[in-house]
Amino acid sequence: MKYDVVIIGSGLGGLQCGYMLAKKGMHVCVLERATLLGGCIQSFQRKGQTYDTGFHYVGGLEEGQPLHTLFSYYDLMGLSWQKMDNLFDEVNINGKSFFFAQGHQAFYQTLAEQFPHQKENLKQYLSLLKNVGDHIFDSLQPRNTEEFYSTSLFAQSAKAFLDETITDPLLRDVLAGCSLKMELTPNLPLYTFAQINNSFIQSAWRLQGGGSTIAKKLADSIQQMGGEVRTRAAVTQLIEKDGKLVAALVNNEELLEANWFITNAHPVHTLSLVKESELIRKIYRRRINNLGNTFGMFTANLLIKPDAIPYIGRNQYVYKDANLWQYTPGKTDRVLVSYYQPKEGNSIRQLDLLTPMSWDEVAPWAEKPIGRRGDNYVAMKNAKTQACIDVVKTILPQLADSIEANFTSTPISYQTYTNTEKGSAYGIQKDFNSPMTTVLTPRTPIPNLLLTGQNLNLHGILGVSMTSCFTCAEIIGMDTIVESLKNK
Ligand SMILES: Cc1cc2nc3c(=O)[nH]c(=O)nc-3n(C[C@H](O)[C@H](O)[C@H](O)COP(=O)(O)OP(=O)(O)OC[C@H]3O[C@@H](n4cnc5c(N)ncnc54)[C@H](O)[C@@H]3O)c2cc1C
Repeated sequence: MKYDVVIIGSGLGGLQCGYMLAKKGMHVCVLERATLLGGCIQSFQRKGQTYDTGFHYVGGLEEGQPLHTLFSYYDLMGLSWQKMDNLFDEVNINGKSFFFAQGHQAFYQTLAEQFPHQKENLKQYLSLLKNVGDHIFDSLQPRNTEEFYSTSLFAQSAKAFLDETITDPLLRDVLAGCSLKMELTPNLPLYTFAQINNSFIQSAWRLQGGGSTIAKKLADSIQQMGGEVRTRAAVTQLIEKDGKLVAALVNNEELLEANWFITNAHPVHTLSLVKESELIRKIYRRRINNLGNTFGMFTANLLIKPDAIPYIGRNQYVYKDANLWQYTPGKTDRVLVSYYQPKEGNSIRQLDLLTPMSWDEVAPWAEKPIGRRGDNYVAMKNAKTQACIDVVKTILPQLADSIEANFTSTPISYQTYTNTEKGSAYGIQKDFNSPMTTVLTPRTPIPNLLLTGQNLNLHGILGVSMTSCFTCAEIIGMDTIVESLKNK
């Protein structure tokens, strides 16, 4: 049997492309190497609780906002979305807390009270963010790619924008402070910073049941529309013949033929699957292989003793003697605290601590299989958890005595379970100095092989959802997609 489209990987992007194309009547097959669907949005069970891998909250899910438009189309609005507190993010810098409120006006008022001398600058800051958010769907218009990237906010620096707009250095740090959901570097494009921050200011939401409920719902829909979704199905080779791909080899034993191939896997991994190609030149491989990747994450998924810590509907970003724009590998000076809403009562049973972690910190154990990395690995992870607890002591002094159990993940875990390059949390690093080379488009030198997912344009749930539109547009046309989003 020949499919219309074979999709490699069941991350959010792979599943959304499967959904969009199946809805247009195409026969799709989504192949996932892991046992669980979802890649970074997969959830897992420990001691009866469901923990998330790479999903804590989303922005822009109120009616009329961008993610609402996209998720209505994907039939995901029926999931158990919970709006977060009005003050949805707290940034604590060296012991002092600042709050982000939902809605641009409330956001302005909250920070203007603490920084009255920055009122005009805050207005200017918000005006740019809002403008970027209001025009997100303009990017679905046909355009000259070269001109778009060279003139757009992808070609401007987020750090320079903050430095120029906000004159108080503390407020600059506060505004950048909930940015563990991206990697702050002086090369970060303004578009990435503005689009992501704006969507959460629009409105902020958690999902009961975790990210895997998104993956499951998309997979169920694909199957109902006649498509196939398979786990434990690793694509081990992509076979090229006469100027196009003809088949995907699955688990080294089964050939699946298709007209189109979409890959949700990291582009470096994708290229390793095309072993013999007349179309992929060495220079292209070198270019893709040399792109930098964002940092990895260390996560401590904690089981909290009953009645020890009250639930709050906001995240806490805590910094201790940190230079926000310069993450130093090995140093634990910034931690995101993310709460899970309890099924009953007001006390939490689950809490995640997240901090960046470089590949170098875990490289000595990288080749060792799960469960056989030895006592040193366990000791290193325990020390990292302790370092995170020390950083958040200022807002959660009772945490150390409230932990019933601790389950940890390092970049090795992320690489093992999601196949990201060296456990990179957010994929390829975008650079405003060279948007044409670091912001990838779906097209590859092979005409019927398309890329999708967080490595291309923008990471995160909103970014990946937009990128799925760009990818599918290469097959069914952007007009069809724009029309489908309107008539969702
Ligand atoms: C720690 C962390 C926290 C995050 N928190 C948030 C958050 O709160 N909000 C938010 O918006 N975003 C968050 N993100 C980002 C968001 O989760 C990701 O941007 C998004 O889920 C990535 O989706 P993707 O489509 O690129 O696919 P990925 O999740 O990268 O999935 C790719 C899939 O392809 C599969 N695959 C790879 N190779 C093969 C092969 N050869 N054969 C078959 N299958 C293959 C992999 O196993 C994987 O399942 C977070 C990310 C991390 C790491």
